[in-house]
Amino acid sequence: MRRARVYLVVFSVLVLFAEGCAVSTNPVSGRRRLYGYSWAEERRIGQEADRQIVAQYGLYDDPALAAYVDSLGQVILAHSHLRRSDTPKEFRETPFVFRVLDSPVVNAFALPGGYVYVTRGLLAHLNNEAQLAVVLGHEIGHVAARHASQRAFELQLGQVALLGGAVLGQEVLGLPGGDVLQLGGTVAQLLFLKYSRDDERESDRLGVEYAVRAGYDAAEAAAFFRSLKRLSEQSGASLPSFLSTHPDPGEREQTIRELAARWMQEVGLATRENQVVYYARIEGIVLGEDPRQGYVADGAFYHPTLRFWFPVPADFQVINQPSQVLLVEAEQQAVLVLTLASESSAAEAARAWAAQEGLTVLDRGSERVNGLPAVYVVAEGQTSEGQTVRVLRYFIEHEGRVYSLAGYTLAAQYARYRPVFLQVMRGFAPLRDPARLNVQPVVLAIRPAERTAPFRALLPALPEAFTPEAVAIMNQVELDAVVQAGTPLKLPQR
Ligand SMILES: [Zn+2]
Repeated sequence: MRRARVYLVVFSVLVLFAEGCAVSTNPVSGRRRLYGYSWAEERRIGQEADRQIVAQYGLYDDPALAAYVDSLGQVILAHSHLRRSDTPKEFRETPFVFRVLDSPVVNAFALPGGYVYVTRGLLAHLNNEAQLAVVLGHEIGHVAARHASQRAFELQLGQVALLGGAVLGQEVLGLPGGDVLQLGGTVAQLLFLKYSRDDERESDRLGVEYAVRAGYDAAEAAAFFRSLKRLSEQSGASLPSFLSTHPDPGEREQTIRELAARWMQEVGLATRENQVVYYARIEGIVLGEDPRQGYVADGAFYHPTLRFWFPVPADFQVINQPSQVLLVEAEQQAVLVLTLASESSAAEAARAWAAQEGLTVLDRGSERVNGLPAVYVVAEGQTSEGQTVRVLRYFIEHEGRVYSLAGYTLAAQYARYRPVFLQVMRGFAPLRDPARLNVQPVVLAIRPAERTAPFRALLPALPEAFTPEAVAIMNQVELDAVVQAGTPLKLPQR
């Protein structure tokens, strides 16, 4: 949960597929074929899903970096099929948005209709502008070749994706559905829509072509794919989805080199690498989780920016998202959700919530929670599956904001979880401990190697949670590889 970003949890159902599939042009091949959506629909889907992506991940708060990534994206786009004079106007006139998401996960993805995302985790793992150019080109390639729309057509997503199931009942209760732990139904479908291997190969081809046309040494990207391979080996099961459907990074490393050589023959020599510019842009970027946006330590959740804390019960896992903090019980029998209410007082927020149709209020009252004005409501409602859910919800005023802490469980289980809910809600308190308040994230420092030595020997003492191997991967170098004196190194710094 982050300051000044108050998102309502909206379970939106996109009604986009009524028209069924569409015959239209592929901007890359110029041929007409069947798609899941028309281009206009793709643009609408992208726009709606973009809102959910931004709410889910948050934008990385560095306007200069965001402007840099967007302007590079626009340059690569200008060399893509979507901007050629013989491309139909509707494609040429579709604006693109390139965003930097505030996530430590190494990832890049695109939504239909012109939305491309890279994470700060990805930016930290790239070694120069040429590598970023290829990644952006790859994502532009997915949009240009309309891969999502092709796969959606094959899967007949239109029939399934938008029903959204339990939406209505959950909206009344404010209960996070299963998909809230991830993303709204359609976005999830689009993101986890598996592009085929051939789609990925086509996007690699297009990414290299666009980057070379823009003057970049696209062969540089090969080293990034090698480091992705190490990253996926290291992360084991938690392989980023971005990697899972892509061709083997080893294969890509090889083909990227071949493609770069081929396109340079066709288009002309492209040598731009721009490491100095790139490193100047990413220096200072946050590495790993940013504790200023909330962190768990010693059995409690601390939020230094919003200056509150509360105890985390044993057996509950904390999921900290920009719009909410979820505490999910191990057996998923109970969940606690912390959000910000849009009303200006606890009483008003409680009234507004309790007045909703479909809710039966069982109890309500006011009290002070660690000196803070609070109003609580106990209510019941039905899920769309016909189960009775009981909710204990506290609205607590703190420093001009109204926090909502809601505990959900089945009515039959309420007696069991009520004490746990109360432990959290009545434990909500202002954060005053300077050590907790002043916590700083680990950031990226760029330092020249002081001497010629194996990478391992050049590493300073690393902050907790950063292994030498992880830092080597970030630098696209083997731990035992000899690094020349003066080579800029990317190092985590507290
Ligand atoms: Zn891809």
